[in-house]
Amino acid sequence: MNGIYLHIPFCERKCNYCAFSSFCNLSEKDRYIKHLIDEIDEFDSKKLQKNENFIKKSENLYKIDTIYIGGGTPSLLDGNDVEKLLQAVKNKFELQKESEITIECNPNSLTEEKVVGYKKLGINRISLGIQSLQDDQLKFIGRLHDSSQALSSIELACRYFDNVSCDFLIGLPSQECDKFIQDLEKIISMGVKHISTYMLQVEEGTPLEKIVKNKPFILPDDDECVEIYQKTTEFLQKNNFFQYEISNFAKNGYESRHNLKYWNGENYIGFGLSAHSYIDGIRYANASDFDRYYKKRQQFKEVLTKEQLIEEHIMLGLRSKIGIDRNYLEKLGYFIEKNENFDEFIEKKIIFIKDKRFYLNPKYYGVSNYIIVKLLQNG
Ligand code: SF4
Repeated sequence: MNGIYLHIPFCERKCNYCAFSSFCNLSEKDRYIKHLIDEIDEFDSKKLQKNENFIKKSENLYKIDTIYIGGGTPSLLDGNDVEKLLQAVKNKFELQKESEITIECNPNSLTEEKVVGYKKLGINRISLGIQSLQDDQLKFIGRLHDSSQALSSIELACRYFDNVSCDFLIGLPSQECDKFIQDLEKIISMGVKHISTYMLQVEEGTPLEKIVKNKPFILPDDDECVEIYQKTTEFLQKNNFFQYEISNFAKNGYESRHNLKYWNGENYIGFGLSAHSYIDGIRYANASDFDRYYKKRQQFKEVLTKEQLIEEHIMLGLRSKIGIDRNYLEKLGYFIEKNENFDEFIEKKIIFIKDKRFYLNPKYYGVSNYIIVKLLQNG
């Protein structure tokens, strides 16, 4: 089934580490929402090009079972705007019963009125950008909320929603493993069902890059980060949060169905500034500045070759609980069992087989890049 992504590129202030497509010119909001709705209205699957290399059965693109409103900071929008956007999607697409509808929220812009409004609109999953529960770390990365606001927003979201997710960062200054785990323990006890832990990246051109240049030892080194990641993984697993992707953990049945589509090679249609789509073996990306988005919207299209489809299937499948499908690879002309490293990986239980699919042992998620590169040689 297909998924829809809607990008809301507005934030009150840019965080020090942010390289996402987000801007602080909130005065642009109304014009942008109008264009976003026009883009949804104008979607026409008949106008899309076909990829001859794509061997999966094409689906009816209008059937959808996930909507993800991401950003930026979607919780900056008024309830009315969110309602208009969801209505535009429902007018164009066939939203299935029991669909997953997620909205990303930041603690400082989430209010009870908004949460109640989201629920009325049929949104059933909230993803909170918490990042840390330590005030000095939140200040360092330039977040607008502090730890008490973070906890209040979690409490508020969990009061109205069963399916609440929190994002955290690993690799922040003076981050201590024990403290980090205590913070996770706290949010689990509040009812959070899904946790994402991303490594802090020092992106080019961000204020963080300058800070790190002047104070090279301010961030924990790779070994410290790996230790926090491993202990976090162990802790979450002990608490029945299953790792279903390198950075994602969920209680049974609370995996992000939308994100699983990315890793499973299913279609997703992205609307909005810099939004990406993947439709039947073709990747699309929208323009990443307002003027170009308003004028032309789509900026980039790539028809995947057989080699790219193979690479993508192995890469995404091995990083998540989706795994890889031998039959699919063989139809594309790739025989993974002929790979010179394959037998060794099976013998060492790095890769295991279940129901004709190959999976990476989650213990090795941290070195998945290395394993993927080895599996792409000589198949
Ligand atoms: S809230 Fe998220 S998108 Fe907005 S500036 Fe911070 S990191 Fe970037």
